[in-house]
Amino acid sequence: MAFKKLDLIDPILKALSTEGYTTPTPIQAQSIPLILEQRDLLGCAQTGTGKTAAFGFPLLQLIDATQRHPQALIVCPTRELCLQITNDLETYKKHSKNIHTEAVYGGASIMMQIRNLKKGVHIVVATPGRLIDLIERKAIDLQKVKYVVLDEADEMLNMGFRDDIDFVLKNTINRESTWLFSATMPPEVRAISKNYMDNPKEVTVGKKNSGNVNIDHQFTVVPAQHRYESLKRFIDFNPDMYGIIFTRTKADAQEV
Ligand code: AMP
Repeated sequence: MAFKKLDLIDPILKALSTEGYTTPTPIQAQSIPLILEQRDLLGCAQTGTGKTAAFGFPLLQLIDATQRHPQALIVCPTRELCLQITNDLETYKKHSKNIHTEAVYGGASIMMQIRNLKKGVHIVVATPGRLIDLIERKAIDLQKVKYVVLDEADEMLNMGFRDDIDFVLKNTINRESTWLFSATMPPEVRAISKNYMDNPKEVTVGKKNSGNVNIDHQFTVVPAQHRYESLKRFIDFNPDMYGIIFTRTKADAQEV
């Protein structure tokens, strides 16, 4: 199948061809038609599947360039992803005239971001904390936001942004479509779709909640104060073991 069959307009097809994309990836083939129809979408897809282009290209097609206010909001967990999505959109919109995007994330000057938002942007790409800050300062108007993308929703919930996501979804009162992407579909992610999405179509690429086939998963439940002793047993028992230990906090990492 080619991108031409997906009802994409010329400026988008030109950008796809400039990028060297000839064939849609499975998530793109399934999501692009639904997004163009403005259907709510629950996309189960990992990074590397082409999901940014899956929502980026059809979103650009839906934007009305003559209306200079935020029409779309893309919320993602980290500053790195925020910048990557914004950069991708910059290349995708090369042939779409006068569409403005702005990345808003923590750790950078908020004044500069407020100034750029004031100039009038169509698409805002944001991390949750900074977005809430801007909403509280009344620096961003969500009234006319029609499209909301939640990217890496499971990661955002893992990072404790649940209340922020609820706040954003509650305060985009004229939201017409919501597109949620997540590598895994735990009950917390399903709860968002149940509470805020309208009969979403589910698209899954690859296997749900899958790990590599050659990885064996084992776990043990121990009282918190015994966890390092238990970990040492695992290591003692597997003297040739190489591995990475993940901890919740910086201090835990130091201690381990
Ligand atoms: P993502 O999953 O959005 O992080 O994208 C993974 C990578 O695939 C990015 O480097 C994209 O540039 C690339 N990509 C996305 N869609 C296509 C496509 N249809 N054909 C070839 N490469 C693609």
